[in-house]
Amino acid sequence: MSSPTNDISSSIKSQALSLGFDACGFAAATVVDEEAVLHYDRWLELGHNGCMQWAAGHQDLRHDPTLLLEGAQTVISLAMNYYPIRFQDPEALRVAYYAYGRDYHEVLREKLTELAHFIEEITGCTTRPCVDSAPIRERYWAQRAGIGFIGRNNCLILPGKGSFYFLGEILTTAQLTPDEPCTLTCGDCNKCVENCPSGALATEGAADCTRCLSCLLIENHDQELPEWVGQVVGNRVVGCDECQLCCPHNVHATATSVEDFSPTDAVMTLTRERINGMTAGEFKRTFAHSAIARVRSKGLRRNADLTKPEED
Ligand code: SF4
Ligand code: SF4
Repeated sequence: MSSPTNDISSSIKSQALSLGFDACGFAAATVVDEEAVLHYDRWLELGHNGCMQWAAGHQDLRHDPTLLLEGAQTVISLAMNYYPIRFQDPEALRVAYYAYGRDYHEVLREKLTELAHFIEEITGCTTRPCVDSAPIRERYWAQRAGIGFIGRNNCLILPGKGSFYFLGEILTTAQLTPDEPCTLTCGDCNKCVENCPSGALATEGAADCTRCLSCLLIENHDQELPEWVGQVVGNRVVGCDECQLCCPHNVHATATSVEDFSPTDAVMTLTRERINGMTAGEFKRTFAHSAIARVRSKGLRRNADLTKPEED
């Protein structure tokens, strides 16, 4: 006979799936383990957070989710597929898949909020949904909650599904039985390290954001980029998917069923001419509900200038 706790856990997981999430797992909300703290500290000491200065702040909260929600007992980790339904026109400048459609923060926040209300109703406990809105070690918690493992490309890899998944969390004061952590690893594979166009994965353990094209093109929006970027950027203007595209775990990636993640017309046809002809106001309107807004108008122009004409 199933216990009431198991019934609640199953209800939450099936509600998550019916809302469009592809995986849902539970981990006990505790202080992050020492190895993970040291790993993060080393990344900061090396300066590999680059222009992402925010990554160095709120270390107390980052390493203890109970400080993000008083009385938190469980971290619920959730993943949602964003592998594209269709791809950009071949002549378009490249946008990473995650930024193809509607801003994932908006989409996930709606779904997480709905699930959080459901949890509150059936448990009487409080919740806090998070989607890049709180300093939380999301891949760490996803691994602890059993939904995947952290690959050498620093992405969470869901066994049998791949890594083109957005992550979100719900902290709750409900005590839910933790799932078994995922213990898989990359083994001897080194493909992402070998295929990274800028050597950003050369240091074992975490990406060097001072070299990662994704960080440089998106986060470093208001500064000149080092000259070497132009040699390796190809026709990318927003992000880089190379270390995921070459990963064997993505060979069988299937298209998302979330229509919001379909590429917008602006992304489908994003050419250098289109970018250069776009006013700041037009940029704002076009990308108001897109993760591309983070690159900003000036940053997108700078990135477009770095790309080389096809015939070069
Ligand atoms: S996103 Fe691109 S540049 Fe960054 S680590 Fe992956 S392959 Fe390298
Ligand atoms: S390419 Fe290989 S090493 Fe890199 S994340 Fe995928 S499995 Fe791991």
